[in-house]
Amino acid sequence: MSNVVIVGAGFAGLAAARVLAPQHTVIVVDKGRGVGGRAATRRIDDATLDHGAQFITTHTAEFAEEVEHWATAGVVTPWFHGQVGPHGVTNPDGHVRYRGTPTMNSIPRHLARGLDVRTETTVTALRVEHGRWLVQFDNEVLTADAVILTSPVPQSLALLDAGGVDLADDDRVALETVRYDPCIAVLAVFGGPVELPEPGALRLTDSPIDWMAEHVRKGVSARPAVTFHTTASFSEQHWDDPHDDIAAAVLGAAPFLDGHTAVATQVHRWRYARPSVLHPAPCLHATNLPPLLFAGDAFDGAKVEGAFLSGRRAAEQMLALI
Ligand SMILES: Cc1cc2nc3c(=O)[nH]c(=O)nc-3n(C[C@H](O)[C@H](O)[C@H](O)COP(=O)(O)OP(=O)(O)OC[C@H]3O[C@@H](n4cnc5c(N)ncnc54)[C@H](O)[C@@H]3O)c2cc1C
Repeated sequence: MSNVVIVGAGFAGLAAARVLAPQHTVIVVDKGRGVGGRAATRRIDDATLDHGAQFITTHTAEFAEEVEHWATAGVVTPWFHGQVGPHGVTNPDGHVRYRGTPTMNSIPRHLARGLDVRTETTVTALRVEHGRWLVQFDNEVLTADAVILTSPVPQSLALLDAGGVDLADDDRVALETVRYDPCIAVLAVFGGPVELPEPGALRLTDSPIDWMAEHVRKGVSARPAVTFHTTASFSEQHWDDPHDDIAAAVLGAAPFLDGHTAVATQVHRWRYARPSVLHPAPCLHATNLPPLLFAGDAFDGAKVEGAFLSGRRAAEQMLALI
């Protein structure tokens, strides 16, 4: 048995851990308060909002089978079919979109069951010593035979740089090619019902808002509450703006809110929201180092499906190395 440390308890890290844990000692660490990474849910008083990933789609038979298991376990259910536009659903016969039940974060919490997952545990550096990995935290060091990094790629590279690890030139060039778009999310709670067309979500064009979803209608919240995701260009331009200015700009641009005033707003900045330039393979094995794999949604697939399958592929490759 080898000791494997997996950095990140999002879909990629948890998928990898579930493959490796039956055969090896696996510890998953995450700096967040809970598991799930960008599949995040927040409570504001008695309102509940998914503020990262909004729904799941399946494009491969492998992932569709996994989502069926999640449906059987009661952590996903179909939300709507097809795509949404500025006036609601545009092609009701299209792909099914699944939502988490009751929230998107329920799915990673389900995946984490039975695993050794340590949250609020930030890795600060990775070092190599005597052919093994030293995983450095604020007050502790773990020794590992192998590491899988599922944090967004720039964050993973920073951990190696902090520990003075020399990546092979080709690996570094490949990883530094990966790019992400940012996304500012505005979460707004309302005093009365907010009526959006079926399914309670819109994708807008020619607006600072890319997506908005009402969470009573989605089946997530006891109280009317809307998540707004801004476009990448709005997010870049307004990244450092004060909370109130961002919330005012977004609420001012939102359709279907006539006569509604938000009683509470929060702003969340997702710096590495979605990959815009992906690595062309489902994971990357770092050459000339103790076993080290990079995985996550920037590897081949994007979105929850890509992240999950990337984690699995990395774990399978790791099984061949250790
Ligand atoms: C606003 C938004 C909307 C989205 N909408 C959708 C959608 O509708 N459908 C869809 O399929 N996808 C959507 N996505 C994308 C989807 O959320 C991601 O593709 C997926 O969740 C990525 O999973 P991951 O495991 O690769 O990364 P993450 O979920 O980012 O997991 C990485 C983890 O690494 C941890 N970490 C980072 N650095 C450290 C460190 N130093 N020490 C310890 N832990 C660390 C982080 O805390 C994080 O939990 C959306 C994303 C965003 C931001």
